[in-house]
Amino acid sequence: MALHEQSLTYVRAISPYQPGKPITQLAREMGLSVEQIVKLASNENPLGMSPKARAAVLAGLSDLARYPDQFALQQSLAERTGLGMERVVLGNGSNDVLDLIARVFLAPGRSAVFAQYAFAVYPLATLSAGAEPIAVAARDYGHDLLAMRQAIRPDTRLVWIANPNNPTGTFLPHAQLREFLQGVPADVVVVLDEAYNEYLPPAERVETIAWLAEMPNLVITRTFSKIYGLAGLRIGYALTSGDIADLMNRVRQPFNCNNLALAAACAALDDHEFVAASYALNRAGMEQIVGGLKRLGCTHIPSHGNFVTFRVADAVLVNQKLLKQGVIVRPIAGYGMPDWLRVTIGTETENARFLVALEAAL
Ligand SMILES: *Cc1c(COP(=O)(O)O)cnc(C)c1O
Repeated sequence: MALHEQSLTYVRAISPYQPGKPITQLAREMGLSVEQIVKLASNENPLGMSPKARAAVLAGLSDLARYPDQFALQQSLAERTGLGMERVVLGNGSNDVLDLIARVFLAPGRSAVFAQYAFAVYPLATLSAGAEPIAVAARDYGHDLLAMRQAIRPDTRLVWIANPNNPTGTFLPHAQLREFLQGVPADVVVVLDEAYNEYLPPAERVETIAWLAEMPNLVITRTFSKIYGLAGLRIGYALTSGDIADLMNRVRQPFNCNNLALAAACAALDDHEFVAASYALNRAGMEQIVGGLKRLGCTHIPSHGNFVTFRVADAVLVNQKLLKQGVIVRPIAGYGMPDWLRVTIGTETENARFLVALEAAL
C-alpha cells in the first residue's frame, strides 16, 4: 500500500493554509524590485517593530547559545493582567497556543464549533486533531451566537470565537458575548481569540480578562504579531484557568518561544508610544481606505481590525491587476468569499498606492 495511504485520513482531508503572497515571490514573478512592492496582505504593522523591541533583539543576540527562559515575559503578562504566572501560556505565535488547546481537548469522535468566515486556523487546528469541524452559518458576515449555541452537540468540546474576526473585521459587543459564554455548558471550552484587541477604540474595549474569574472554561488568546509588529518573530499567549494552562503546558514543546521573540515581546509591552502611534495610524488609514472604497463604489464590511474586506465584481481579475502593479492584498475565496478581497491598513502612502492601483484595476 502506498505510503500516502498510511497517513491519517483526517490529515489528508486538510486543505493547507494559504498565506499572503511574500514580497520576494511577487518580485520574482513580475520582475519587479522589492522596493516597488506594497504588501497589504497579512495584517502586519506598517510601522514595523517597536524601536524598544528592536533594541532588545539586538541585545539578545549575545545570549543565543542559551535555551530560552520564559520567566520574564510570563511575569510581565501576569503583572499586567493581574493573573498568576501559572495562568499565562506562551506560544510560538498565538497560532501555536490555538494548536495546544486543540491537542488538549480535541480528538476523533469530538467536535468543535466556529462561525462560517471565522479565522482559517480554527478548522485547521480542529482537523489536525482529528475532530469534526462544525461551521455555523454567519449572520451579516459575523458570528451568529444563538445558532452557535444551538450547534453545540454532546461531543462538542471546543468553541472558537475571534473578536474582532479575521477576515471579516466583524465585532461582537461584549454584552452579547458574555451572555453567550454564560450559556455554554461548563464542560465545553471557549477560545476567545483577541488578536486585534489593541485596535479597538477604548469605548469598545472591555476587560474580558476579568471574566476568567467566573468562567473556568474560557481561554483568551492574544498576539504580538499585530499591533506590536512582531509577526516574524512568532510570539503570542493564552490566558486561562490554572487547570487548562497546566494541560496546555503538558503538550507544549519546552522551548517553543525563542530568546529573541521573548526579549522583543517584553520590550514591546512597555513601548506605549509605539502602540499608540500604531493605533492612531490605523484609525487614520481606515478612514482613508474606507473613504477611497466608497468613492470607487466598492461595498465593504465595517471593520474593527487593521484590515478591511471589500467586494469587487471579479476578485481574481482585480487581484491579478493589483499584483501587476506591485500591490499585494489577500483574496479570501478560501474562506468561501470569492467576490471579496481583504486589504491591510498601511501607511498613508501605501494606502494611497493601493487606492490608485485599485481604481486602475476596476
Ligand atoms: C493574525 C491572527 C492571529 C495571530 O496569529 P499569530 O500566530 O500570533 O501570528 C490569531 N488570530 C487571528 C484571528 C488572527 O487574525
